[in-house]
Amino acid sequence: MNFIKKKILYLYKLLHYHDYLYHVLNMPIISDEEYDFLVKKINSLKKKNIIFFNEIKSSFIKLNKICDIYKNKHVKPMLSLDNTFDVNGYIKFHNNIKYCLKNKNIKFFCELKFDGVALSLLYRKGILVRALTRGDGIYGEDVTKNAYVINNIPIVLNDSTVPELLEIRGEVCMLKKDFNDLNNFSIKNNKKVFSNTRNAAAGSLRNQDISITKKRKLFFFCYECNIISDIKIFKNHSEQLNMLSNLGFCISQYILLSSNLNKILNFYYLINQIKDFLSLNIDGIVIKVNSLILQKKIGYGNKFPKWAIALKFNSKYAKSKLLSVTYQVGRTGIITPVANLFPTLLSGVMIKKASLYNKNEINKLNLFINDSVIIHRIGNVIPKIKSVIINDRMNDAKKILFPKYCPSCNSLLYNNKNYTIIQCLAGNNCLEQRRKYIEHFFSKNALYAEGFSSKIISKLVFNKYIYTPLDCFKLNVQILSKLKYFGIKSATKIINSINNCKNTTLSKFIYALGIPEIGLEHSELIANYFGSLNKILHCSIYELKKIKCIGDICSSSFLNFFSYQRNINNINKLIKEGKIKFINLKKKNIKIKKNILFKKNIVITGKFKNFLRKELINKLIHLGGIISNNISKKTNFLIVGSNPGNKIIKASNLNIKIILEEEINKVLFKKHKF
Ligand SMILES: [Zn+2]
Repeated sequence: MNFIKKKILYLYKLLHYHDYLYHVLNMPIISDEEYDFLVKKINSLKKKNIIFFNEIKSSFIKLNKICDIYKNKHVKPMLSLDNTFDVNGYIKFHNNIKYCLKNKNIKFFCELKFDGVALSLLYRKGILVRALTRGDGIYGEDVTKNAYVINNIPIVLNDSTVPELLEIRGEVCMLKKDFNDLNNFSIKNNKKVFSNTRNAAAGSLRNQDISITKKRKLFFFCYECNIISDIKIFKNHSEQLNMLSNLGFCISQYILLSSNLNKILNFYYLINQIKDFLSLNIDGIVIKVNSLILQKKIGYGNKFPKWAIALKFNSKYAKSKLLSVTYQVGRTGIITPVANLFPTLLSGVMIKKASLYNKNEINKLNLFINDSVIIHRIGNVIPKIKSVIINDRMNDAKKILFPKYCPSCNSLLYNNKNYTIIQCLAGNNCLEQRRKYIEHFFSKNALYAEGFSSKIISKLVFNKYIYTPLDCFKLNVQILSKLKYFGIKSATKIINSINNCKNTTLSKFIYALGIPEIGLEHSELIANYFGSLNKILHCSIYELKKIKCIGDICSSSFLNFFSYQRNINNINKLIKEGKIKFINLKKKNIKIKKNILFKKNIVITGKFKNFLRKELINKLIHLGGIISNNISKKTNFLIVGSNPGNKIIKASNLNIKIILEEEINKVLFKKHKF
């Protein structure tokens, strides 16, 4: 059996085990997100190994059939829904359906996604004859007796038009209030405490003792019906729900029928905002194609119907554990501690690492190795440790020790006064800095040699074929072919691409030099202003300051770089021997639309929730703001994050306008004037 097959078998067994814990023992040990992740992983492997997959799947179904609990077969497979945690995932689904049906006016029906236990009710001639849990989707567990004691499940449907055989599907839920009461009672009486409303509902529904089911105050909310033996046919999902509601069933209190994508997304955002105020737990919304005829046309996949999707809410925080800390050397030698975390799912993404920024951050968090931590994602992207769960700290907690020597080149590290910066000053003598600098030099926004990837650069640097960007221009096919995984053809391609990137623009070249604080936008402004490299090499602070939007930080960093004769010599050598030529692009007039920050002197203090500091600075520069380090009479705005320094006192003494992060967010997203 090959590796992939073994892996599928292992994952499938694992899935089956978790199914068993969840459906049979009612004791899940992994979160929903982790379960979904497992399913997605299996599905991704399945595509390439479909035959093998079907083999093991059928063997598992046989196993299930023997199991007593699965003896009751559903009238039709009770599939779960495909889901996404991401609005983009929904947009893809939405457009896909429209594209497949070549129809612009497809109506979608949106309803709440109840966080409960799925239940199928079978009515014969209007009388409840059977209730099944989902089980494995084919066979469910019989809980008819329990269903009889759930208050809002009608045992008899008092309507003469009711179809002969009717199956109704929905979710059994426990209200948040009842859940809290139940757990409080359990704590007092030393009984089992449920981890969430869904587990509590499942445990209550499937209890052998129906008096317990009755006591637990469960509710049933339905979302689907199947008419099995009747001529009565509905055209739409919404009509069906209407009928169910008329028969006395509870349906989603919030619904939307629309073909408009924006309206559907707004419905999602609205529900996300009010969900905490609802009496029930919901974990997203469900969106279905409303027409039953179209549903049939679109059909079913292996696991899910293709005409419906659950758009789930992101959980913002997750608990993880700090396993160790490693230290990365940046391009400019700054050492950044990185937390290695116990792999944890957060809004559908597996988080394994998070930057710890600097020593101060670690002190502020009071973080130790082996601590339990709460993680989140800044701006929904960058993982970050939010806090430490001090109560969880055990004897194995270890202090985080900063290295004294550079992990790459072993030279003694420099600390600044308040330990915010720890830096390796070895520059190009430090292997890691060398590697990152060359990578930067040939990166997309710099000179960009296509195909000259960081992997190749690393190999060349580690094997000491290259020390500087200039060395790269001297590479040839023979040298590249010495690296194991290169053929002549691919080596030639890369050499060509390195040669081609010698024709570049002045602004790209300046950016490629990797001068601290000089980003893309600055490089372009400087190149446009001076027009030639020679003028730049001899510019003064006076001239630099004439350029719009170049603040103190940038100009002093820029001049500092060129104050070293060594740097100037290197640049001249690089241009001459590397045969770099500047293409004369027509002077581009960078037009910045006027806005509230345009040409304003701005100082920043504190930490920001939604941005890294550098990101914020770049955004402000983009809007034409001039960033300075210190408050002076010239300062127009002070932008304040959390834990601001004493700049805020200075600013208020000078009557300088103070802007909070929330306000600056609105400006950046063009919604606000202050
Ligand atoms: Zn170093």
